[in-house]
Amino acid sequence: MKRLLRGTGWAVTMISLMLCAATLALWGWSYHRADHVAAGYWGYRPHRGYPMYFDAWGVEGFNSRGRWMVLGRLHACVAGPGRHETSPHAKGKTFEVTVSEPAELNSAEGGLSSGGRTWSWLGLKYGLNRNTWAVAMPHYWSAGVFAVLPAMGVIRLRRRQRHRRAGLCAHCGYDLRATPLRCPECGMTPSNNHSTL
Ligand SMILES: [Zn+2]
Repeated sequence: MKRLLRGTGWAVTMISLMLCAATLALWGWSYHRADHVAAGYWGYRPHRGYPMYFDAWGVEGFNSRGRWMVLGRLHACVAGPGRHETSPHAKGKTFEVTVSEPAELNSAEGGLSSGGRTWSWLGLKYGLNRNTWAVAMPHYWSAGVFAVLPAMGVIRLRRRQRHRRAGLCAHCGYDLRATPLRCPECGMTPSNNHSTL
């Protein structure tokens, strides 16, 4: 069970490392050709008091200039079943991955700064105004979070190495000179010592 837990721990650490690397790649990419990843959902509901009009909610996601952004916008438009569609392509679910210039996201980022309530901390941003709701997370946040486990893993490996060289139990650091075959403290055997964690 203990060994299973350790194996799972390393698997999670490796996945975390890969996610961290992927984030770093995405981070660099977002400055060069800033892909505008827009997965949208457009939900229509009747506009209060105006039967011809509908409120449409659009939700979109972006990856640009070193950060993620999720944006929700409220539109008032003429749309719905049996009605004229002002933007038929935007109805229902849309999924578009388009590559565009970073500058084109300026209007979308307006949701984070214009009027209403905004909150910002170390690059994390949240904005809410009359028509727009937006959150932004810089890639250094996700890269940092994904880097925690791999960093801990490296520290653990180094401590283990240091212990092994000094003739101590790789697992718990107990002095093994008197009992080289089995650690009396944690039960680790030398063969286990060589399988890392
Ligand atoms: Zn031990």
